[in-house]
Amino acid sequence: MKKALVCGAGGFIGGHLARRLKDEGFWVRGVDLKAHEHCTSAADEFVIGDLRDAGFCRSIVEHDFCEVYQLAADMGGAGYIFSGDNDADIMHNSATINLNMLDACLNKGVRKIFYSSSACIYPAYNQEDPENPDCSEASAYPAAPDSEYGWEKLFSERLYLAYNRNHGMQNRVARYHNIFGPMGTWDGGKEKVPAAICRKVASALDDGAIEIWGDGQQTRSFLHVDECIEGSLRLMRSANFEGPVNIGSDEMVSINQLVDMVCTIAGKTLNKVHIDGPLGVRGRNSDNSLIAEKLGWAPCQPLRAGLESTYSWIRQQVEISNSAATH
Ligand code: NAD
Repeated sequence: MKKALVCGAGGFIGGHLARRLKDEGFWVRGVDLKAHEHCTSAADEFVIGDLRDAGFCRSIVEHDFCEVYQLAADMGGAGYIFSGDNDADIMHNSATINLNMLDACLNKGVRKIFYSSSACIYPAYNQEDPENPDCSEASAYPAAPDSEYGWEKLFSERLYLAYNRNHGMQNRVARYHNIFGPMGTWDGGKEKVPAAICRKVASALDDGAIEIWGDGQQTRSFLHVDECIEGSLRLMRSANFEGPVNIGSDEMVSINQLVDMVCTIAGKTLNKVHIDGPLGVRGRNSDNSLIAEKLGWAPCQPLRAGLESTYSWIRQQVEISNSAATH
């Protein structure tokens, strides 16, 4: 039986990935600091531990893992990444995890690690026009990410590719763009935009108001987690394409449009109230030319379809939490 390791299996994408690998017949070991908050892990074995500990990393890697996915990172939504208060932790924790996992895999003879980098590596100077951001892979340099989270990702993607060049590894690097879907963080400050908006809409009374950070004209694209996993597996299993490559949607919307879409799904009319908040770049969209060329595949699911299932799941979470608070 083929064996896979998923680091960060207690998180949003790692949880979905463990399920997909199980469905494909893999034996899966999941590793995380914590259990998954929203479901029972699909992994055959779930090890709780800290990947900042090099000894722990060596203990969880085995030579017969044919696929290793390194998704663990200290991360969160804009409120966590852009406040500046968490920069040292973000950089130290995530870089240490990546250094340790590369060392452990090399040491055990595992040749291929999938690494999830981020669209946050792209230079802020190419993302000032909300209608026309440039996020083609080649535009990453001269580097100027707008957060320390992005700088750590850029360092780590270079580290994985350096191990390919110097140690004959075949690591794969993807740059994820705003992944969303059910069973992700939806409150508490580390949630991303689609989850935060779904929660706010689900919690609001019809004809009420919804608070939006900034003027809402900043643009983004959002990729449903199922397509994120599909792209990740295709990259991991591609014959010789190491990346970095974008895994994202190229259906760009403004945050105001995203709010309108969620309101339509919910059947609510809400008044948008624009408030100050951490924002990130002005515009961002996935450029899917390279993935289409190299993998013969690119995400194509309409945003609206993914939002429907995500809204429905978050509305349920809001209802469960409201009813727990009143009992
Ligand atoms: P997540 O926060 O839900 O999952 C990350 C997991 O890593 C968490 O469960 C966390 O507990 C675990 N972790 C953190 N530090 C650890 C440590 N020291 N030891 C063991 N486990 C540790 O995030 P996600 O949305 O599932 O993202 C997965 C990966 O994809 C991350 O590397 C992230 O940077 C990258 N990414 C995500 C997005 C997105 O939109 N979700 C976008 C770009 C890149």
